[in-house]
Amino acid sequence: MTRLKEGSTQQERHHVPEGPTKIKTELNRYPLRCRECGDMYYVNECDYHDFKLAFGADPSELTFCCNDCEDAGAEEAYAH
Ligand SMILES: [Zn+2]
Repeated sequence: MTRLKEGSTQQERHHVPEGPTKIKTELNRYPLRCRECGDMYYVNECDYHDFKLAFGADPSELTFCCNDCEDAGAEEAYAH
């Protein structure tokens, strides 16, 4: 006789950061400027590290593309 154990199906809810945020948060502490709209965003250490690797040495040169601009860019790319 098989019987499914109940009570162990509760989903774990980790608070995963959803990428850049417009406000500084506990996780998103590293400022980056969107190269498209020029707005400041904050990213988590992990993302920041990736950007740093991607862009090289000078953190002041770091730019990224925010979600809004990325969406706009993606739509544009799709349209062409
Ligand atoms: Zn932007």
